Order: sequence, then C-alpha cells, then structure tokens
Amino acid sequence: MRIGIVAERTGETRVSATPETVAKIRGLGYDVVVEQGAGAASSFPDTAYEAADAVIVDGDTAWSSDVVLKVDAPTREEIARLKDGATVVGLLSPALKPELLAALAQRDLTALAMDAVPRISRAQSMDVLSSMANISGYRAVVEAANEFGRFFTGQVTAAGKVPPAKVLVAGAGVAGLAAIGAASSLGAVVRATDPRPEVADQVRSIGGEYLPVDVAVEQSTDGYAKATSEAYDRRAAEIYSEQAADVDIIITTALIPGRAAPRLITAADVASMKPGSVIVDMAAGQGGNVEGSVAGERTVTANGVIILGYTDLAGRLPAQASQLYGTNLLNLLKLLTPDKDGQLTIDVDDVVQRAVTVVQHGAVTWPPPPVQVS
Ligand code: NAD
Repeated sequence: MRIGIVAERTGETRVSATPETVAKIRGLGYDVVVEQGAGAASSFPDTAYEAADAVIVDGDTAWSSDVVLKVDAPTREEIARLKDGATVVGLLSPALKPELLAALAQRDLTALAMDAVPRISRAQSMDVLSSMANISGYRAVVEAANEFGRFFTGQVTAAGKVPPAKVLVAGAGVAGLAAIGAASSLGAVVRATDPRPEVADQVRSIGGEYLPVDVAVEQSTDGYAKATSEAYDRRAAEIYSEQAADVDIIITTALIPGRAAPRLITAADVASMKPGSVIVDMAAGQGGNVEGSVAGERTVTANGVIILGYTDLAGRLPAQASQLYGTNLLNLLKLLTPDKDGQLTIDVDDVVQRAVTVVQHGAVTWPPPPVQVS
C-alpha cells in the first residue's frame, strides 16, 4: 500500500511524519510519498525525506494514496481529494465533530482518530493527547516567561536583590506537571492545585508545592478528575483568590473528560493581580478556566494583566511536536501492520484499534464500546 504524508493547511506547523518515522514506515513494507514542502514548517526539508527513501510528490498524488496521514482533521475539500477505499489518520476530535464523521461516511472511507487512543497502559506509546500536553505545558511556561518583564529566578546582585517569580499551576495532569517542572527549573517558586490528591507527591518531586483544597472529592477510578462538588469549588475559589493576589504567573490546565473546562479564575481574581502578571489559559479552546480568556488570543486587561489563550502551544515547538506525533502514529501503524507487509488491517476485536476507528468503509463507528482504563 502507498502512504501519503500531506501538507497541512496554513497555520498548522506540525507534520504527520518526520524523515525518521518515514524510514520506519517504509520498514513496515509501505511505499511512502510526501507532498512537496509538507515538513517545511517543522524544519524537515524535502531533501531529508528523500534521504529516507520517500518520494516527493504534488498534492493530488499524495492525497490519492491508500492511507493519508495528517495532523489536523481534513476539510470537506480535502475529503473530496481522498480516493475511494482510502484510510485517513489524524486528530479528528470525534466527540466534538459529528459532522466531520458524517462527511467521511458519505463515501467508502475509513478514518482513524489519533485523539481517540484509549488511555490504557498498553496504548501509551500512541497517546498523542499526552505527548502534545507535555509539550504544551512546557511551552506555556516559555510563553509566560517571554511576556513577563522579570526574571523567574531569584538573584542576589551587587545592584540589589531580585525575588523569584511566583507561579501557580491549576491542574497537575500531564500538561500541568510539565509546566511545574519547566517553571521550577527556571527558578520560580511554583504552587499547584488538583482535585486528585494522589498528584501531591508528583508535584513535590519536581519542585512544586501542592496546595490541598481539603474538601473530599469523588474518588476517580480511572486516574481522571470527576466534576468537583460545590463545596470543593467554593474552597478552591478562596484559594485561587488568595493566590491571584500573590502570584505573578498563573497557568491553568484543568479539564474534565467529556465536559466543558471548569471555570477557576474569576474576573475579580484577574483584577486583583499585579500589573505585568501573566495568565496562560491552556483550557481556552475547551471553554476556558479563566474569565476573560479568548481562545487563540493574547488579551491585556484594564489592570495590565496579560492573558494568553493560545490553542497551538504544541505547534509552537513544531519539530519536536512532529517528532512525538509522528512516533505515536508510527506505533499505531505497527499495530495495524502485524505482518510488516505494507498492508493496513484493522482488528475490531482489539480495544485500541476499535477505539481509534471512527469511520469504517462508509459507516460511523464512533463511539466505541467503553474501555476499562488502567
Ligand atoms: P486532563 O487533560 O483530562 O486534565 C488535566 C488536569 O486537570 C487533571 O490533572 C485534572 O485532575 C485537573 N482538573 C480537573 N478539574 C479540576 C479543577 N476543578 N481544578 C483543578 N484541576 C482540575 O488529564 P491528563 O493530564 O490528560 O491526565 C490526567 C492523569 O491521567 C495523568 O496525570 C495520568 O495519571 C493519567 N493518564 C494515564 C494514561 C495511561 O495511559 N494510563 C494516559 C494519560 C494520562
């Protein structure tokens, strides 16, 4: 079978395969074609793909492959470029985009959603949500440091003492832990909250202080947060108000699977922050943790607080984001090519393969049956 690596639309800096993963995809028995310039925004020139024995082709040739690898979901125009019987792989957000699944299912197409990989131990090597969250958490700190007009680290100099910046990270999952690690390695004092008390040790182990809310929450059985109670939210809100008046930087990462992002930081909290403080709302694309954040935008409040609602944080480190995304995708292809014969097969009795298959030969197959998360 022929695999096509297509160029993403303007604004997406990542690419679905790197020269390194292309060589490994060829090792699975596939022919690989790469649309001219597909890796340019991630600093992977066409010559590097050619050195990995991929053939550089025009867009129509890449889109007419048996399997098309993408980062972003295809548009209607792009779906029209797929040949009958083709398989397309990308970040398809099946829960949020029923119209995309319906459009794909109008033809004999199969669609695999990288963001539907079940979060079980066996599938960790394909888990793009974790690999992208890790990059985004780091980048959120870099963006905050770039906006903040001061050092993160404390210094004692002949010209006087400089205190360390104080950073609050709300939500200590994959992205939050990456942000805590990055901010503390830059020398900031870092505090963190999360309704899952089991993260306290992880926060401390990377240099943060865990702020307990001390109101019992429903225990999660799958490692993910449940919606918090009113009593929890009330106490947490007091902590956020105390912290907002004290810290210089707030990075929010709080998400609850299947729901809109919880609102944590109010406009009054933002108004209490010092001028020049920075907030990065990593949940801005899912409704936002911070009142006043705008998805994709940088806003400055009347009291001089900068709120970043960027939704492309992983894409701001495009080479490594592509490297990790490409490796996650390669690991999926390995699973789907058990005989390394260049033939993609889908075993719907396997929970991972079933979960990612959101359209199969013109039928919508999402949502899959529930998976026991480990
Ligand atoms: P996520 O993106 O769904 O949520 C981000 C964080 O927000 C979580 O830590 C959550 O507890 C927190 N949160 C939710 N409501 C909040 C509130 N009101 N206030 C503050 N924080 C709130 O989660 P994630 O980062 O993708 O993963 C969470 C955990 O799941 C990880 O820490 C890990 O232990 C586990 N996980 C396991 C696997 C696996 O393969 N087994 C894969 C990925 C993640």
